[in-house]
Amino acid sequence: MLLENKHVAIVGGGMGGLLLARLLQLHNIKVKVYERDLNADVRVQGSPLDLHEDSGLLAMSKADLLDEFYKNVRPNASKARIVDQNFELKFDEHAIIETSSQEISNSNSDSLQDISKPRPEIDRSNLRTVLLNSLLPENIVWDSHFLSMEKENEGWRLFFNNGKNVYADLVIGADGANSKIRPYINNQKPIYSGITMIEGTIYNAKENAPKLFEFSKGGKVLAFGKEQTIMYGTKGDGSLLFLLSSKIPENWILENNLDFKDNAQIFDWFKKVYQDWSPKWHELFVSNELFFIPRPQYCFPQNQTWETQENITVIGDAAHRMPPFAGKGANLAMLDALELSDFLTNNEFLDLKTALSHFEKRMLERAAEALENTLKNGEQLHAANALEKLLSIFNKTAKS
Ligand SMILES: Cc1cc2nc3c(=O)[nH]c(=O)nc-3n(C[C@H](O)[C@H](O)[C@H](O)COP(=O)(O)OP(=O)(O)OC[C@H]3O[C@@H](n4cnc5c(N)ncnc54)[C@H](O)[C@@H]3O)c2cc1C
Repeated sequence: MLLENKHVAIVGGGMGGLLLARLLQLHNIKVKVYERDLNADVRVQGSPLDLHEDSGLLAMSKADLLDEFYKNVRPNASKARIVDQNFELKFDEHAIIETSSQEISNSNSDSLQDISKPRPEIDRSNLRTVLLNSLLPENIVWDSHFLSMEKENEGWRLFFNNGKNVYADLVIGADGANSKIRPYINNQKPIYSGITMIEGTIYNAKENAPKLFEFSKGGKVLAFGKEQTIMYGTKGDGSLLFLLSSKIPENWILENNLDFKDNAQIFDWFKKVYQDWSPKWHELFVSNELFFIPRPQYCFPQNQTWETQENITVIGDAAHRMPPFAGKGANLAMLDALELSDFLTNNEFLDLKTALSHFEKRMLERAAEALENTLKNGEQLHAANALEKLLSIFNKTAKS
């Protein structure tokens, strides 16, 4: 057994890191997750996630967590309503009775079809809670912001900003898009995709954005026009999360001197840039319980490779950061966790380095394919004919 009497440190307790810890814990491996959040109650931001059969759901099943997952799924959350920029309803998935995901996956080969597949959707914070509850409390170490590490004996000594340090025989970076572990493996910088998203969250949306809240019917609303998109959906905590997405230069935030804490300024920017869109969209900006996060979208190079080391690797966004246009990032992180745990415990490899090398090869091939689909989707979702294209795909899916 490759990990017998070895200590494994997973840096980052997102979907990838927590699931990997759970899977290793099932094999009685000495594993700890070091997470920078102060505790489990720190509010987890972010859009809901739909899990895919061949990745996220498969991994949850192998972790023996599928029942817990389904207890937390929000049935209507994955249903979409498609509108144009004037808020005219063009397609309504709530009106469709039932579809078969198998038929749909065979129905055409367009990568955008992924968006139209019905998949169980869960709020990110609930998925995180399911994963956290599956871990022994001592296997997650909060308030551990990783700063650096240095080689020691066969492994690494890790240093955290709380002044503590620990030794680990194997380090796994699951610390997301701006990973501090990744530079110990690969120094290639991420590339700007050409698209920036602005994420807004409205708390208590029933009160603060009543018309938009009601229109969503607990699902998603997708709007396309003039090479711009608006997508929004409600979450189980009553908030509404929206994404404004358009093709803009990498440094436009700096050049425009935009302050994302100044909601009035962002509203003015919206009225200028989305000037052809109906004023019905203005309800997104009027509440005081609203905050923004700018999200310029980057990816690591599609053909990236690196030389495998024997006691360190990365998974999830730390390994293959990409924009969310195919909704695959979290699913890939979970599949990485599943495959890495399998390679580390299946006794098929003579040494750690060989196991990691096989894992990294497959992970990078998988990620390259996902990135290709993602970038293609990004182009199509921001094309002049995006609405027509999406409608044809959703209509085809609904009929199959
Ligand atoms: C708007 C948007 C929508 C998305 N929609 C989808 C979707 O529908 N489906 C999908 O599959 N994916 C989606 N994604 C992508 C998905 O969110 C990511 O791919 C996924 O979260 C990656 O998981 P991860 O575990 O690798 O990293 P993360 O989820 O980013 O977790 C990293 C963890 O590491 C911690 N951390 C970071 N730095 C340190 C440090 N120095 N020390 C200790 N801890 C640290 C963080 O606090 C965090 O808990 C979306 C992304 C965005 C931005």
